[in-house]
Parts: sequence; structure tokens; C-alpha cells
Amino acid sequence: MNQKAVLVLGGGIAGIQAAIDLANMGTKVYLVERKPSIGGRMAQLDKTFPTNDCAMCILAPKMIECANHENITLLTYSELAELQGESGRFQAKVIRKARFVDEDKCVGCGECAEKCPTKVTDDFNAGLGQRKAIYKYFPQAVPSTYVIDPDHCRLFQGKKCGVCEKICKAKALDYGQKDREIILDVGAVIMATGFDLYDVSPLSEYGWGKSKNVLTAMQFERMICASGPTMGHLKRPSDGKEPKNLAFIQCVGSRDVRHKKYCSAVCCMHATKEAILAHEHYPELSSSIFYMDMRAVGKGFQDYIQRAKTEYAVEYIRARPGRITENEENLNPIIHYEDTNTRELKTREFDMVILAQALTPSETNASVAEKVGVSLDDFGFVSPSQDPLNPFATTRKGVFACGFCQSPMDVPDSVVRASAAASKAAETLASR
Ligand SMILES: Cc1cc2nc3c(=O)[nH]c(=O)nc-3n(C[C@H](O)[C@H](O)[C@H](O)COP(=O)(O)OP(=O)(O)OC[C@H]3O[C@@H](n4cnc5c(N)ncnc54)[C@H](O)[C@@H]3O)c2cc1C
Repeated sequence: MNQKAVLVLGGGIAGIQAAIDLANMGTKVYLVERKPSIGGRMAQLDKTFPTNDCAMCILAPKMIECANHENITLLTYSELAELQGESGRFQAKVIRKARFVDEDKCVGCGECAEKCPTKVTDDFNAGLGQRKAIYKYFPQAVPSTYVIDPDHCRLFQGKKCGVCEKICKAKALDYGQKDREIILDVGAVIMATGFDLYDVSPLSEYGWGKSKNVLTAMQFERMICASGPTMGHLKRPSDGKEPKNLAFIQCVGSRDVRHKKYCSAVCCMHATKEAILAHEHYPELSSSIFYMDMRAVGKGFQDYIQRAKTEYAVEYIRARPGRITENEENLNPIIHYEDTNTRELKTREFDMVILAQALTPSETNASVAEKVGVSLDDFGFVSPSQDPLNPFATTRKGVFACGFCQSPMDVPDSVVRASAAASKAAETLASR
């Protein structure tokens, strides 16, 4: 029998958009997300370039639409285990990981997390701040169900606890919950597994992990976000003081033959945005962006950079920083760089440095690609089909891709690709 449902893998903005488009066409969608909530990386951003819209304000309504849509089944905290069959007649095995909290009973009140005695580094906040061993992925999570992290929960580590069960008025805790396997019949698959952040600790010359006042761009996004760990206040990790000047370093790991040869595509613009936001929060603050060349190819991007220079005290320095050391007295990072316009070697001290780390395919991209039977390019992104007029197709019929898992791209481009992939998947269902 021909199947009339679509499996979407990844609940970032690309997967969400593809799911909503298909659902609005009357197609049944299973949206599989490995994290406890949909939202993807966009949920971690403060604002989005080039309009400086609040990221969560435009993302949250789409997340809620997904959850409430009668044609969408949300399968969060779940992963694809196997895909069999062929275009029009696939069968997917999906593993639903145990949350140890009953989704139907949990009301998201948060009392369990308040009383939980175990603190864990918070990945959602890019390592700034802590969460509890029972936690909601982020305040606006969809679904808003809590989840136990068994690797850190005292009870699961064989110690005495059970505080969350005692405190939960909804009786939602279920320590005996097991992973479940479900089988889905679908006619087409859309991969939207997004990206991960390249680990910059091997690039020791930039001082991340050694110098407290060197952050990554994602850490900066969380810090400047009102719902982040510092409630939107910029604070130097070394002393909690407000920085007066910031340096942004571009291409940390990207366009670097030792690491990732490709351009991560969104960093010139997100650094400009972050510098603008910092100045909006603190009008006395200035920023300097160290860049190789500015890649501002989108509509309105060049104007955005121009405004950053003229209205937001942003200085652009064409340079290749070679090393960051630290002023031992005040722990200010000192950038050693070659000004590639004048060919002079210079040093400059800043209160805080922000690294635009390379962006890589999701760590699961390779295993998902193997399961769904599509090829990846040399960098691990999903290879396009050989047809240049059908860039949403993959090397396997009936499997489409969109968003950052195909190649580095910003939110608007991810959404365009998602809508295109959705229409191609719908065409596949209709044409059989
Ligand atoms: C610091 C920074 C700032 C940025 N600022 C902006 C900005 O201002 N404006 C802009 O347009 N863009 C910005 N971007 C880029 C933006 O984040 C991406 O364009 C966007 O998130 C891509 O969406 P996506 O859905 O393709 O991927 P993602 O957001 O990465 O979502 C992918 C989803 O798939 C899930 N997933 C992964 N593997 C699996 C699996 N095996 N099974 C199920 N689910 C899986 C992930 O958990 C995730 O939820 C920024 C990026 C960074 C790093």
C-alpha cells in the first residue's frame, strides 16, 4: 500500500517548517527530534540578523503550531533506528527514549527541578550555568515535559534520593520507564538534522578553555539573551564586571586547512549582530571584528554592516589573529595579529573575546545518513542529488534534505529549503 505520511528527522527551524507545510497540505507528519524539545539551535539565539527580531518570539509560535497541529505527531527525545523499504513505501523504526517522566501527567511546574539536589553543566546555555539532573531543556520547551538525566541523577547512580517523586503532585515520575520502539509507515523522509559547534579547544592559540574571558559566539548568544544564565547582562566570567570593549574573531576553525576547509557562512553576520546587540545593551561599549573578508551576500546584509559601523561603534579589522595571551593582572585577553592591510604585527588588549567557531554537520549526521541510505560530501553534509535543479533531493529516491544538514545556511535559507523539501515530499506521495 502507498503510504501518505512523511517522516521528518530533526525538529530545528528547518524540520519544523517542513512539518507545518506538509501538515497544512493535509499530510500526516511524524516529527522526530533527539533532544527533549523541538526548536533546534534557533532556540539558543537571542536575536536574528539582519532584522534583529527576537529569535524565540518568531520560533515559539511555530513550535506551538507543530505541537497542536492535528496532522503532526511530535516524537521528541527520539531517534531513528532503522529505515526499510523504498520511496512511497518506507517503514521506519524509531526509538523513544525513556524520560522517566510521564508526558501526559507532567504539568511542567518545575517543583521537581527546584528540589533536585544534583547540578549539571547546562548544554543549552553552552556550558554557562547549570541545570538540575531532572530538567526542562529550556523555559519555552515544547513539549514542556521534564526529563531525568540518568547519567547524573543520584537515584540512577545507585544513591539514595527520589526527591522528585516525593515532590511531584501530578504523580508523573516513572523511574521504571523503558525506551520504546515504534514502527511508522511513511511514503517519504526529510532529513533536517542541522549542525553542531566545532570544539575549539584544540585551537589552543585562541585561548578558549584557558582564558576565562574568551567565549564562543554561542556562549555570547546565551549571555546576552534575557532568558539566559546572566539574564541578558554581559559579565566577564573572570570577575563578573561589565566589559567595555569586545573583540570578535572570525573563522575559528573554518576556512582553515588544519580544521574545516569550508566557510561556515553565517558567522560574519552573527558577529555583526552580536556586536550591535552588545552596543544596544551598553551604549558606551565598542566592538572590533577581526575578519579575513566579510561575506555579506544576503539581502540587506551589506547595509547591516554599514549600520554597525556608523551607528553601533563597530570597528572591522582585516587581520588574522595568530595568538591570544592574557594580561596576568586583569585577565584581559591580548590579541596578537597581523593587520593584513598594512602588513604590520600588532597587539591589542580587550575585556572579552568572542570566537566564531566553525559549524559542523550534526554529530549524528553520518549515522542517520547511513540508516536512510544517503551519501554525504567530504565535510559530512548531505550530498545533493546530481540534478542541479533539484537541490532538495538526496542520493536516495524519496529522501529529501533541508537546512544546515545540507550545507551551512542561515534561518531564512533553511526555511526556504524546508518548504521546497516539503513540496517535493508531497509530490512523491501524490505521484504514486
Ligand atoms: C552563534 C550563532 C548565531 C546565529 N545567528 C543567526 C542569526 O542571527 N540569523 C540566522 O538566520 N541564522 C543564525 N545562525 C544560524 C542558524 O542557527 C541556523 O541557520 C539554523 O539553526 C539552521 O536550522 P536547522 O533546522 O537546519 O538546524 P538546527 O537548528 O541545528 O536544528 C536541527 C535539529 O535536528 C536535531 N537532530 C540532530 N540530529 C538528529 C537525529 N539524529 N534525530 C533527530 N533529531 C536530530 C537537533 O537536535 C536539532 O534540534 C546562527 C548560528 C550560530 C552558531
